[in-house]
Amino acid sequence: MSDIIQLLPDAIANQIAAGEVVQRPASALKELLENAVDAGATSIQVVVKEAGKLLIQVIDNGKGMSPTDARMSFERHATSKIRTSQDLFAIRTFGFRGEALASIAAVAQVELKTRQAESELGTLIQIEGSEVKKQEPVAAPVGTSVSMKNLFFNVPARRNFLKSNPVEMRHIVDEFQRVALSYPEIAFSLFQQDLEVFNLPAGKLSQRIVGLFGKTYQGQLVPCEEDTPHVNIKGYIGKPEHAKKTRGEQFFFVNNRYIKSSYLHHAVSSAFEGLIQNDQHPFYVLFLEIDPAHIDINVHPTKTEIKFDDERTVYAVIRSAVKQALGAHHVTPAIDFSV
Ligand code: ADP
Ligand code: MG
Repeated sequence: MSDIIQLLPDAIANQIAAGEVVQRPASALKELLENAVDAGATSIQVVVKEAGKLLIQVIDNGKGMSPTDARMSFERHATSKIRTSQDLFAIRTFGFRGEALASIAAVAQVELKTRQAESELGTLIQIEGSEVKKQEPVAAPVGTSVSMKNLFFNVPARRNFLKSNPVEMRHIVDEFQRVALSYPEIAFSLFQQDLEVFNLPAGKLSQRIVGLFGKTYQGQLVPCEEDTPHVNIKGYIGKPEHAKKTRGEQFFFVNNRYIKSSYLHHAVSSAFEGLIQNDQHPFYVLFLEIDPAHIDINVHPTKTEIKFDDERTVYAVIRSAVKQALGAHHVTPAIDFSV
């Protein structure tokens, strides 16, 4: 009889875990943006080349990392965000799994530069396929810059599976928009092949919406607010004439996390009934604040679905808030009923 079970080497374990965290360039961008927000950045720059296949770089002016932490950040299950299992029930940060950087570094060539305000010199780390190539002190601004190059360079099957540049870029812009919308108080920019796609100064939510979706929304957004013991809602809806045939400009955030919910989408579109045509979708950006005890954030790394213990109440509150907003602003139908 012989024993045949072995623990996998870290590099392989990380590569397997990476399959869940990094499906495409946009999923890596989401993780890097969330880390920058968690680090308390007030300004975040994104640089993208070849739709993220060649490069995604996220530069923040957050709190940075010490040299030891910089190296630790690439270990799996290494996190500064939770310490005990109790902390799992009161998560205030985007991250807590300590998997993102380890996963990204397993399937790409990563360069990290980071400095804390109290240190004179920063730290540079280069790591490829989980293998540290370089670690040395470096002059760097306060904050952190992470460059992810040649995603899936060592996993050709996954690299071939990536979609065309326009499709991957669309996913990148989607992730960027979601994070930028939920933090209007943080300045964001996005460059693609040295061209500026977005340059969003810190400001109010309404300014952020205009910055992201265009001047058509300037002065055209209808505020939507409702306070109930169960859920608080605030945000904006677009006027019926701004409804579009294409879906995509509809955003729900629950406790500042972007979520997808066709059920809650229906609550909004039903409030627009009679004001827009059936095949059109209203614009909305709605923030729901709800006691975390009443929701189950499906904790899969990339899932954006969520469960509410009282979905019907949330539905009813959203519908009535949107109806009230439309009524209060004497919004008129965009459908011409005379024909
Ligand atoms: P998580 O975010 O779940 O903790 P990550 O792998 O994304 O896991 O990051 C690991 C750790 O590295 C974080 O807990 C944080 O301490 C540190 N870190 C990552 N990105 C940054 C950043 N941009 N600024 C400061 N610290 C960072
Ligand atoms: Mg993270």
